[in-house]
Amino acid sequence: MQTIEELLESKNIRVTAMRLLIYKFLANKQIAVTLSDIENAFDKADRTTLYRTIKTFEEKDIVHQIDDGTGITKYALCENGCNCEIETDLHLHFHCNNCNETICLTDHKIPQIKVPEGFVSENVNLVVKGICDKCSGH
Ligand SMILES: [Zn+2]
Ligand SMILES: [Zn+2]
Ligand SMILES: [Zn+2]
Repeated sequence: MQTIEELLESKNIRVTAMRLLIYKFLANKQIAVTLSDIENAFDKADRTTLYRTIKTFEEKDIVHQIDDGTGITKYALCENGCNCEIETDLHLHFHCNNCNETICLTDHKIPQIKVPEGFVSENVNLVVKGICDKCSGH
């Protein structure tokens, strides 16, 4: 098993106490989090540092952004080996209309989406909305 330190180093991210804490926070969450969730969890920390940490994680494919249509950007940890590439890594997200949580459906990759000649896809965001398994009782 790769440690978090080794994972960060393999992505050329300098290991700091703050980065380790934020990584662990995200790893313990089963749902996507907003920047204010992170700020609330680390209320003693400098907000700029938190923001920069998330941005660094995003650039290095440690986390990915999710736009679930609520107007607030959410973040979730990437799977091991994820490069956030269209067709190989991008997966569906599910937004629950009842509990308002957004989760990664990492086993459900976004199917190949054809765009017209001359168009270049850079990102695909596919959010399914409905009732999650916890709320539906199954
Ligand atoms: Zn990713
Ligand atoms: Zn729910
Ligand atoms: Zn995801």
